[in-house]
Order: sequence, then structure tokens, then C-alpha cells
Amino acid sequence: QQFDDVNLTEIMRSNITHARYDKPTPVQKYAIPIVLGRRDVMACAQTGSGKTAAFLVPILNQMYEAGPVKQPFIRRKQYPLGLVLAPTRELATQIFDEARKFAYRSRVRPCVVYGGSPILDQFRELERGCHLLVATPGRLVDMLNRGRVALDHCRHLVLDEADRMLDMGFEPQIRKIVECNTMPKTGERQTLMFSATFPKQIQVLAQDFLYNYVFLAV
Ligand code: AMP
Repeated sequence: QQFDDVNLTEIMRSNITHARYDKPTPVQKYAIPIVLGRRDVMACAQTGSGKTAAFLVPILNQMYEAGPVKQPFIRRKQYPLGLVLAPTRELATQIFDEARKFAYRSRVRPCVVYGGSPILDQFRELERGCHLLVATPGRLVDMLNRGRVALDHCRHLVLDEADRMLDMGFEPQIRKIVECNTMPKTGERQTLMFSATFPKQIQVLAQDFLYNYVFLAV
């Protein structure tokens, strides 16, 4: 199985080649066609499985297919089209680095925000445009409260390492973000959850956030 077996845009295929990804990993092989088909997914996958590209490739590809990015242009308030929540600054940065590779030479601009680092610098980056936002939950809640990010146009939502986010006590912040009144409702947005484990608490989140989802265990 090759990346060429699925229908990806020219820009995405060239970015995959530049990233030197020859062959999809198992989670990529199963998840990419499902996500391209706009389904919601609950995937049990470990770090190192290639899960980052398993969600970034099909989400960014959908953005490329949708053509020129349509977002309100308000410099001080960004309306990302996709949002990835991650537990730590390290993971958020890794996802952002990967997003930059796959967004290369496209109109999609990824941004990353996390706590423990000056918020004003992050505002300045956001103001340059933000189509795909990678964020840790606490910092994003802060930005939503300050009116610097709005989720009205968020059509793709990813919860990465969801079990770790719950272990770190982020459930209230996650619920605040996903259930805030500007976020498109379950079923109106595409939602993907990745978790190494699938305990009761994650099953409840999946019930609450996902619509008619495909369960993947790799
Ligand atoms: P992840 O599990 O998403 O954190 O990915 C683990 C590492 O594998 C990262 O350094 C990726 O850049 C790399 N990687 C992911 N998918 C592939 C692939 N299909 N071919 C080669 N390297 C990959």
C-alpha cells in the first residue's frame, strides 16, 4: 500500500514525498481514507505509530480541496478552520512541525499556542493568519476568553493523546472548548480522537464529542 492509493491533491503528494514518507504506517493506511470520507474517528494508537500524519494529511488535504481558504479577515481575532488539542508543549510543537511540512507551498498557515510562554508573542504569530491551530487546552481557553480566537469556522477538531489530557486534568478545559457555543456542533464538524488507551472516561468523551464514529485500534 502506498500514499498514491488514496486520492490526494498534488500539493499534498509532493509534500509527503518531500517529508520522505514512502509508505503509510498501519494507522495512516486505515485512518486516511476514513478521514478523507469525512467520518469521525476514535483511534487507539501509540506515540511513534505515525498518528500525527494520520490526521494531518487527510485534514489538510480536505482544506486544499475546498479551494481558497475562506475565513473572516479580522487581524485581532482568528477563526481557524481546524483545531488540534494536545496535552503538552512538546507534543503541540511536534504536531506543528509536522503540519508545516504538509502545509508547505499551500495557502494553509498552521500556528501553535501553549502555556508557559509569552502570550503576546503567540498573538503576534496568530495575527499573521491561522488556518490550522495546534493548542494546549489551558492556553486556548485563555485566548478564547480574551476574544483572540473564535471557533465558528472550525470544521475539523482533533483531540490527540486524549487519555493523557484527561490524566493531566484538562477535561474541564476540553469541555469548555468543544462545548462552547461558537464551536460547530457534533456532526457539523469532523471530530477525531486519538488515545493510547480506551478507558471509561475516554468512551464517555467519544460518546459526547463524536458523531457515528469509526473505531480503529492498531
Ligand atoms: P508520530 O507517531 O506521529 O509521532 O510519528 C513518529 C515519527 O515517525 C515521526 O518522526 C514521523 O515524522 C515519522 N513518520 C510518521 N509516518 C511516517 C511514514 N509513513 N514514513 C516515515 N516516517 C514516518
